[in-house]
Amino acid sequence: MNALFDSHCHLDFDDFAEDRTAVLQRAHSAGIVAIMIPGVSRQQSHQRNIPESPIELYFGYGLHPYFIDQHSSTDIEWVEQQLQQQPNAVVGEVGLDQHCPDYDKQKQLFIAQVALACQFRRPLIIHHRQSQADLLKILKQYRATLPSPAGVIHAFSGSYEQAQAWLDLGFMIGVGGLISYTRANKTRQAIARLPLSALLLETDAPDMPLAGFQGQRNEPAQLKRVVQVLAQLTAVSECELAEQTTANAYHLFGRR
Ligand SMILES: [Zn+2]
Repeated sequence: MNALFDSHCHLDFDDFAEDRTAVLQRAHSAGIVAIMIPGVSRQQSHQRNIPESPIELYFGYGLHPYFIDQHSSTDIEWVEQQLQQQPNAVVGEVGLDQHCPDYDKQKQLFIAQVALACQFRRPLIIHHRQSQADLLKILKQYRATLPSPAGVIHAFSGSYEQAQAWLDLGFMIGVGGLISYTRANKTRQAIARLPLSALLLETDAPDMPLAGFQGQRNEPAQLKRVVQVLAQLTAVSECELAEQTTANAYHLFGRR
């Protein structure tokens, strides 16, 4: 069994309220040894109640653009407190999303959270939707003070050149269910060309179901299928992919 690290899973969402223990059991049976649970809002992070299991859990704290209406500037101080109190907490999920309202407020909050990541030397988990150019522009201004590695561009979609811009800033590339869709050809080709040392595996559960599972709730056990697709795409064995991407995730999120 290959040891896999799900680098992005919203296991704290209500979608899993009924059967979280069973979801963790299935993940464990599928070889998942660790899960990063990103934060999306102050309110949501206070509701985290994950049952005990053999799976190692990591946590992020951040203000996600989807919940822009809920965030206030004092929530930045709350994120700062979490980073102070928890030496392994990372900054995220944060980012910019052109489909969400109040892009200026999104930018203000994003910049404040990037500054915290630099101050506390913690990696960033970044959400993007039609916003990579804006995100990269902001992050380039922090190039000298970003931690190393700097974080991950989660659910990456885009060209090889775009991926390379993230690598140049010290980010890793989050690879999930999107690569199972043939329509995502540009992203699939880009990821196939990237060095294995830059790749993280993720489900983004409960979202981002793989091709063939549309309309169903996604879950961390499905990470084994992401590895299968990536193996076909890269012609690298599942075993080697598992080993390398799990090592990458520990390198990024592991105990400091
Ligand atoms: Zn997410």
